[in-house]
Amino acid sequence: MSGPPCAWCSRPGYHTLLGAERICTGCRRRAHYHPGQCPGCGRRRPLAFRVAARRVCAGCAGVDSPFACTQCGREDHPYGARRCARCSLRERLAELLRDPTTGQVHVRLRPVFDELVGSQRPQTAVWWLRKTPGVGPALLAQMASGEIAIAHESFADLPQDRAHDWLRDLLAATGVLEPWEPRIERMTPWLNTVLAPLPGQHAETVRRFAHWHVIRKMRQATTHGHVSQAMANDARRRIRDAIEFLALLDHHGVAIADATQDHLDRYLAAHPGRGRGVASFVAWLRSSRTNTTLTVAWVDPGPPQVTVSDAQRWAGVEHLLHDDSLRSYTRLGGLFTLLFAQPLSRIVAMRTDQVTTGAAVHVRFGAVPIQMHPDLGRLGVLGHRAGLRHQESRRVREGRPHAHRADRRGFGHGRAQRSHPAGYHHLSLGQGNAIYV
Ligand SMILES: [Zn+2]
Ligand SMILES: [Zn+2]
Ligand SMILES: [Zn+2]
Repeated sequence: MSGPPCAWCSRPGYHTLLGAERICTGCRRRAHYHPGQCPGCGRRRPLAFRVAARRVCAGCAGVDSPFACTQCGREDHPYGARRCARCSLRERLAELLRDPTTGQVHVRLRPVFDELVGSQRPQTAVWWLRKTPGVGPALLAQMASGEIAIAHESFADLPQDRAHDWLRDLLAATGVLEPWEPRIERMTPWLNTVLAPLPGQHAETVRRFAHWHVIRKMRQATTHGHVSQAMANDARRRIRDAIEFLALLDHHGVAIADATQDHLDRYLAAHPGRGRGVASFVAWLRSSRTNTTLTVAWVDPGPPQVTVSDAQRWAGVEHLLHDDSLRSYTRLGGLFTLLFAQPLSRIVAMRTDQVTTGAAVHVRFGAVPIQMHPDLGRLGVLGHRAGLRHQESRRVREGRPHAHRADRRGFGHGRAQRSHPAGYHHLSLGQGNAIYV
C-alpha cells in the first residue's frame, strides 16, 4: 500500500504515523536504534516527534511510546518489532534451560540464565543463541534436560575448541562449575596418547601417578595463581620419566612392585639429569605403597638447558643496557634474566608495585627490594610509568581464561585473547605489568 512520502526521507511506501508525521520503516528503525538526548526532558530516548520545530521523545510529545517493548515497556535494546532483546532472550533461555522434571529453568543453571539475561548487551546473547552450529546452546540444553551431567567431566570427550572452552568459561564464571585451567585439562588427552602403547599394568600405574600426584599438584597450584606453561612442561616430563623407568623395568622383566634400588640406580646412570623427574615418581610409589623400597638419595639437577659463559653474559648485559634501538621492555626483561636470574614467567607476572622510583629505583623480586644501577633504573622508570597508565588492570595473567565478565564486549572473543605467542611478546601484552612499555 502506498501513501504520501516519508516525512523524513521522502521515500514513498507504507509509513507509520508518529505524531503528525508519517515516516518509513527505515527512519522509524533508525530512530529506535539511535536514541538521542531529548531537548525536552534531557533523557536519552528515541526522538521521533516534532514539537515546536524540535524532535522530542514520546513522553515530551505526550503520547505512548511506539518504541516501547510490549512486555517490559522499555525502549532500549530494540530487537524485534514488538519486544526488546532482553524479553526475547529471557523467553528463549527459559525454554533452552528448562528442566523437564520441574518445568522451570534448571536450578543449577539459574546463574547462567541470570547472567545472560542481565548482561549489558542482551542482543549479543540472542545472537549467540541463534548462531550456527550452536554448540554452546545445544550443550546447555542437554545439561538442562539431564542428558549430560553438569560437570567438567562432560567436556572430556568433546572437542577442545573455542566454542566448548567458552561455554566452560561461562559455567565456571557463573559458579556453576569449579574454575578450570586449560593447561590441566589438556593433560588428560595427552596422557591417553602417551599411555596408549604401554602394557596395561604400566599404563594403569602411570595413569594413577599422573592423576593422583602430577595433575593433582597442578590443581593445587591453581589456587595460588595460574598454571604456567613451564609447570605444564615439567608435569609432562615427570610422566615421561616414569614411563621410561617402567620401560627399563619391563626390559628386565620386573614388575614395579618388585623393582629394587639397583634398577633405579641403573636407570639414573643411563639417564643423567633425570633424577628430579623420576624422584617425584619414586616419592609417589612410596606414598601410594606401590613400592616402598626405592629412594632417590640425591637429586641431580641436570645440565641447564641453555648455558651462557660469563663473557657472553656480560656482553649481553652491555648490549641490553646501551642499545636504545631495542624496546625497553625487551631490554629490562633480558637484564632481569641475565643479572638477577629471573625466569621469564616471573618477569611477565611482575606488577607495578614491585618497582619504586625516587632518588634511586628499587625493584622487588622477592621480599627485599634491590637497588638498580642508574642505567637499569632509567629503563625501569620508563617501564614503571607505562605500567602506571594501566593500573586498572593490576595484573594480567598470561594465557589465563578470565571470567567471561571481561568478555562483555562480545561473546566468543574471550578465547582468542588467550592464545598469546610465546616469548617476549608476552611482555607487551601485560598491561599493568611493571615493564609494560
Ligand atoms: Zn524515511
Ligand atoms: Zn523527552
Ligand atoms: Zn522488554
